[in-house]
Amino acid sequence: MPAALARATASWPTAEAVVDGEERLTFAGLDARSAAVARALVASGVRAGDRVSVWAPNSAAWVLVALGVYRAGAVLVPVNSRFKGQEAARVLRASGARLAFVVDGFLGADHLAMLAEHREGLDALGEIVLLAAPARPGATGWDAFLARGERDPDGALAAVVAARTAALGGDDVSDIVFTSGTTGAPKGAMLTHGASTRVYTAWSDVVGLRHGDRYLLVYPFFHTAGLKSGMLACVLAGATLLPHPAFDVPSVMRKVTEERVTMLPGPPAIYQTILGSDLTGYDLSSWRLAVTGAAVVPVELVRRLRSELGLRTVVTGYGLTETTGTATMCRHDDDPEVVARTSGRAIPGVEVRVVDDAGTPLPPGTPGEIVVRGYNIMKGYLDDPEATAEAVDADGWLHSGDIGIQDAAGNVTITDRKKDMFIVGGFNAYPAEIEAALLERGDLVQAAVVGIPDDRLGEVGVAFVVPRAGAAVDPAEVIAWSRARMANYKVPRRVEVVDALPLNATGKVVKYELRAQAAPSSPP
Ligand code: ATP
Ligand code: MG
Repeated sequence: MPAALARATASWPTAEAVVDGEERLTFAGLDARSAAVARALVASGVRAGDRVSVWAPNSAAWVLVALGVYRAGAVLVPVNSRFKGQEAARVLRASGARLAFVVDGFLGADHLAMLAEHREGLDALGEIVLLAAPARPGATGWDAFLARGERDPDGALAAVVAARTAALGGDDVSDIVFTSGTTGAPKGAMLTHGASTRVYTAWSDVVGLRHGDRYLLVYPFFHTAGLKSGMLACVLAGATLLPHPAFDVPSVMRKVTEERVTMLPGPPAIYQTILGSDLTGYDLSSWRLAVTGAAVVPVELVRRLRSELGLRTVVTGYGLTETTGTATMCRHDDDPEVVARTSGRAIPGVEVRVVDDAGTPLPPGTPGEIVVRGYNIMKGYLDDPEATAEAVDADGWLHSGDIGIQDAAGNVTITDRKKDMFIVGGFNAYPAEIEAALLERGDLVQAAVVGIPDDRLGEVGVAFVVPRAGAAVDPAEVIAWSRARMANYKVPRRVEVVDALPLNATGKVVKYELRAQAAPSSPP
């Protein structure tokens, strides 16, 4: 990854690399300032291979630290910015981070104070540095940290950084990225420099990201969607990165208007929110490219992004943290119908198959588990060889836990997660399919279906629906509507009208929370 930055700096030294409010960095500036972070890390005692953590929302300083960590030969461990102290401490403990960069408050939470309550077992953590903020008791200030790297009269620190960068190989671990925790506790995946650059060179190429693009990033840096398809793809393509700390329609639409944004990727949920909002007063004409995935994408959504927002290119993709974030992608010149119906095919050099429980490949159109093999597969889960062996089989296939089908051209459609599918009286019900049907009503912004236990049928579905602004939605009518359009076993037994669905920081609906809410034992 440091080589990718050096290439961008040589090719486009004066082009804007990162824009964050008042802060505007060219590639030359990004190069100089991330080198300063790397020198300061060396001066702070960080050795090659040491883990360095960042617990903060998206910002320009986050980018400087990430690139500085790579250049110092250390391993980046991003922490979910929405985590509470206990959750963050778990990641810091598990990774043995020596140094952590922490934001001085985000969304009303005091990260430093939260961490102070959970210091037990954090013996490896020698220092906390406040990101782009002055010192507080228990934490070094940003300027004081950087000053360590500036006192380098004989160039000794710079020489160490240069040697560490030169020693990096493609197979060296660059980051430990934790999964989203959609199905359980997040797992730390060890990703490498080589896989990251190779995957996102291919990714930029297939989605059509190029120099001159202005890329608004709402995906968080602590997830591969932000860290790899956001930060790294921009460095590889020479695009301008606009890191955004938290999604809300007015702030994002204002930035698109003022900064002439061309690319805004996101999970389906944020596009649904944008489409359900009043957009008068914004100029979205610069926006040409949308990339979505991360959860099942309703066909209707792709159509509306084109017809209502006028986007020229909408691309869908599929991946897991364990596949360095990407396994399949649509190509930017794919037929809109392919984009709407599928998440594309394997990126170049990667194999994707649909198999049965015995691992035998299934014919096109037959649902089974998606498995992936190639250079994009993680090195393993952090300190968990058993879990790694369970996920990646002896032949190198990663078992995704997702159910899907493949068409004759290899395009994959994710039907659902193995864990979310439920069985009603012997029939497999796929929540994503039912949700997509419900969204066709037109009066709903979002829908989520979960299976709950039922004495007679084994399981039945419960739908949680968010009405469009101003729409009055009657649960009994939704059930009657569903009866007329879907097989009986798919019809939700109950419909709950809610203001919002529980989303994790990656924008995915947290279904286990909904299942708990929907369980018959809990009050209505
Ligand atoms: P955890 O593994 O901790 O439960 P997670 O699986 O949500 O969380 P990630 O690695 O962030 O963590 O997400 C990968 C998952 O996201 C995939 O396994 C798949 O279920 C879902 N996903 C990604 N892209 C798509 C897509 N295009 N369509 C449907 N689902 C997708
Ligand atoms: Mg997962």
